[in-house]
Amino acid sequence: MKALVLEEYNKLIYKDVPDPVILPDEVLIRIRACGICGSDVHGLDGSTGRRIPPLIMGHEASGIIEVTGSAVTKWKKGDRVTFDSTVYPLDDWYTREGRYNLSDNREVMGVSPGEYRRNGAFAEFTAVPQHILYKIPDSVTFEQAAMVEAAAVALHAVNISGMKAADNCAVTGAGSIGIFVIKLLAIFGAGKIIAIDNIPLKLKAAKDNGADSTFEPSEMNLEEKIKSITNSRGADISFEAAGNSETVNIAVDIVRKGGTVVLIGNTAKVIEFPLQKVVTKEIRVQGSCAIRGEYDVILKLLENKKLKVDDQISVVAPLSEGASWFGKLYLKEGNLKKVILIP
Ligand SMILES: [Zn+2]
Repeated sequence: MKALVLEEYNKLIYKDVPDPVILPDEVLIRIRACGICGSDVHGLDGSTGRRIPPLIMGHEASGIIEVTGSAVTKWKKGDRVTFDSTVYPLDDWYTREGRYNLSDNREVMGVSPGEYRRNGAFAEFTAVPQHILYKIPDSVTFEQAAMVEAAAVALHAVNISGMKAADNCAVTGAGSIGIFVIKLLAIFGAGKIIAIDNIPLKLKAAKDNGADSTFEPSEMNLEEKIKSITNSRGADISFEAAGNSETVNIAVDIVRKGGTVVLIGNTAKVIEFPLQKVVTKEIRVQGSCAIRGEYDVILKLLENKKLKVDDQISVVAPLSEGASWFGKLYLKEGNLKKVILIP
């Protein structure tokens, strides 16, 4: 098959590789769309340590089942599917507790951090176990289905935030995950939705997708301005989708006493943490990792047209041109949102 292979750091080659071999509980999927994730772009130069070459990246994908393993019963050739980015073991304590995103020995599609190498979906075919598959509704396109992973990451954060209708919510970082958080907060009936980002274009996107107010982090008296639109208290919940010291500190500054800060972004390994503010404001800090079954809800929201994802797709291009699109994303050329590659 043809695949886009990270042969060494900063070197993506479109070339022939052997077809994946499936295990009895796996299916072989003919990939029809695979989105480039920010983590793939960051992984390109080796800076994250999670894409050790050689590797076929890609974990935001959809396609058609081509072959089923001997132990696969619920799926058949021709089924339109997408799949979780996490391949998790079924015989694990966390999985049995209903927290498979935290399971020991889980692997991520298209990632090779050292302990394992799991080829992903920038290829004609990929192999995945049957228990991570989701059926794509007829009215949802393959390109839309390739956006489900990113939206599900955002939904997981909203789900574990404890957000209730009319809660005032702030979102720091209006990149792709931040925008999906904003879209979902609007769908779920948040009160005020406040977006913070240092790029005006992203703030405009936040507004277009449901934010009531937007601010740059450098804005004078930011905390006071946000209090003035949230009953003099601050946001009930802060969603942090950038992941560095500055934005985490802003998220803590603008949440009300007794509020919740949900940490989604994890760009920096270590940050300066505002210990005294968190303690004296009695803030709940909640990490949010990946996805825990949110695919079904996102697919339903796509099917009933409540959630729109097309506006987040900038380009649909052939996989053979993948290297040049990766290059543009790496150099942040042209304000690209999601780039989807088609084998
Ligand atoms: Zn991703």
